[in-house]
Amino acid sequence: MILGGTADANRLAAAVAAESRIAAVLSFAGRTETPKLPPIPSRIGGFGGVAGLMDYLRAERIDRVVDATHPFAAQISRNAVEACAGVGIPLLALERAPWQAQSGDRWIEADDLPAAAVALGAAPRRVFLGIGRQNLDLFANHPQHAYLVRLVDPPRGPLPLANVEVVVARGPFDRASDRALLEAHRIEIVVAKNAGGDAAVAKIEAARDLGLPVVMVRRPAIPARRTVASVADVMDWLAHDSTPTERGV
Ligand code: NAP
Repeated sequence: MILGGTADANRLAAAVAAESRIAAVLSFAGRTETPKLPPIPSRIGGFGGVAGLMDYLRAERIDRVVDATHPFAAQISRNAVEACAGVGIPLLALERAPWQAQSGDRWIEADDLPAAAVALGAAPRRVFLGIGRQNLDLFANHPQHAYLVRLVDPPRGPLPLANVEVVVARGPFDRASDRALLEAHRIEIVVAKNAGGDAAVAKIEAARDLGLPVVMVRRPAIPARRTVASVADVMDWLAHDSTPTERGV
C-alpha cells in the first residue's frame, strides 16, 4: 500500500503500474474533493487510528507499506510506523530532503504554524499563505494582515480569515507564474512549510527573485524509519526486498 496525497505518491503509483509483479493500492485521506485518479486501484478515507490501520493491513493482506505522504502529515506517518511494527511488515518512507536556504533567500524559520503567524509581526502586511486549507484558523488571531490563500478546491464556505483573497489552482506550480502571482497581489511576505522537492518550490524561488522574506516552517518530528528520497529508490526496495510477494503492497 502506498500512503499518498502528494505528487511523489502519484509518480510512484505510475511507476508501480508499469510493474506487473506488484499489486498496489494508493490510499488518500480524502481532503481533496477531486483527487487526480491514479493508474492503480485507490481507496479514500482515514483508517481509524493505529488500530484501524493494523486491521486494514491484515484484512487486505498488505505486505509492504510505502509512506509517500507530505512531510507535514505527521499523524498518518506516526501511525504507519506503529501499525507496520505491530503487524510485522516493512515500511519505507519516500521523503524529499528539506529545502535549504540559498543565496538571496530571506528566510525566517519557525518551529510550527502558530510560531509562523507570530513571526509575521505586529505591523499589517500582505501575506501569501502557501500552506493549503488546513490550519488557516491559526492566522485568525492576526487579523491585521491581508492574506492571499491558494487552494486546490474552491472553498465551500467562508474561510476563518477576515481579510482574505483566494486563488484556486492545483500544483505543480512554476516559478514565473508564482512570481507573477506574488507581484499581482503586492505580496510582502510568504509563509511556507518546508516540504522539499520540486512540486511546491516555485513560490520559494519566486520570493527569492522578488527579494521577499519567507517564513519557513520546519518539519514536524516523525519516529525513525527507513527513508529514501526518490521513486527509483522505492522501486529498487520493492524489487530487492525478500518479503514474499503473493500479497499486495
Ligand atoms: P495527518 O494529520 O498526518 O493525518 C490525519 C489523519 O488523516 C490520519 O490520522 C488518518 O486518519 C488520515 N490520513 C492522512 N493521510 C492519509 C492517507 N494517505 N490515507 C488514509 N488516511 C490518511 O495528515 P494531514 O496533514 O491532514 O494530510 C492529509 C493528506 O493530505 C495526506 O495524505 C497528505 O499526504 C496530504 N497532504 C498534506 C499536506 C500538509 O501540509 N499536511 C500537504 C499536501 C498534501 P486515521 O487516523 O483515521 O487513519
